[in-house]
Amino acid sequence: RAKHEGKATWRFFAAGMQQRSARQLQLESALRRALERNELLLHYQPQLDGNGEQLVGVEALLRWKHPEFGFVSPAEFIPLAETSGQIVAIGEWVLRTAVAQLKAWIDAGVPPMVVAVNLSAVQFRHVGLPNVVARALSDAGLPAQYLELELTESVTANPSAAIATMDALHALGVRLSLDDFGTGYSSLSYLKRFPLHTLKIDQSFVRDIDTDPDDRAIVQAIIQMARALNLKTIAEGVETDAQHQFLRREGCDMMQGYRFCRPMDAAALEMWIAGREPLPSPNVVPMIAA
Ligand code: C2E
Ligand code: MG
Ligand code: MG
Ligand code: MG
Repeated sequence: RAKHEGKATWRFFAAGMQQRSARQLQLESALRRALERNELLLHYQPQLDGNGEQLVGVEALLRWKHPEFGFVSPAEFIPLAETSGQIVAIGEWVLRTAVAQLKAWIDAGVPPMVVAVNLSAVQFRHVGLPNVVARALSDAGLPAQYLELELTESVTANPSAAIATMDALHALGVRLSLDDFGTGYSSLSYLKRFPLHTLKIDQSFVRDIDTDPDDRAIVQAIIQMARALNLKTIAEGVETDAQHQFLRREGCDMMQGYRFCRPMDAAALEMWIAGREPLPSPNVVPMIAA
């Protein structure tokens, strides 16, 4: 298209492309040192029961704070880490940090909950994964049932290999959930063969629940199918009370989203937990001063 619009447009377009890949190259080499320079950290986002009341888990979300580039979105740097293969080392760091953090919280007396860790398809295909997970748990002293691994449908591209890996992880006692459910292209027929605990309803279906009858129908169908298959459901990206109420009425088991709490660092999450303990419902609406 650009070449029909004359030479100037084309040059402009080409320069833009070059700039983008220059940033990518810079990020890629900076990422190589991110771990040793302690630029990576985890934020945690609460997962609540269907009523939005009880804390049942936290999802660990990776953050990269570069001294020059600032916060780089995982949507931008995780694909780079996957291409370079670095995601294996970074992913192990995420896993170890998350399970050690949950162990510390449990020891400090927080109510029992799980920590959910995202796995890249590249990590998932790495042969050593079940051993890496087992060692991370035993080094932290955290029982396996406290860990949930979030997989995406892309891991199911090779179904028989995926089943073997999932079975090995399941045998350790960890929970498996399928993230961004409904956006991939995995065959529904595999759902019954995967040892899954939870389907995570993608936020793209949740976003327009109030206005789009198609999205409502899709969400209802996912919840009903999950129930029939004995899987739990969690909705991600729940931002409004109307979305929450619809999901709750439909029987969605768990909720996650800005409606309840944004992802935040460990210290801020501790304060959030401490602050809501005596409250009957999530402390999102400002309290009226007594
Ligand atoms: P995801 O696993 O589907 O995570 C959900 C994303 O939605 C997170 O974005 C979260 O901050 C955001 N979110 C949570 N609640 C709401 C809400 O109410 N509204 C909206 N609009 N967004 C909400 P984030 O943290 O930028 O992460 C983006 C993606 O990067 C994740 O999507 C996941 O695929 C990937 N990612 C994050 N951390 C890791 C990691 O440690 N390892 C791997 N392999 N991937 C990760
Ligand atoms: Mg996730
Ligand atoms: Mg997701
Ligand atoms: Mg998502």
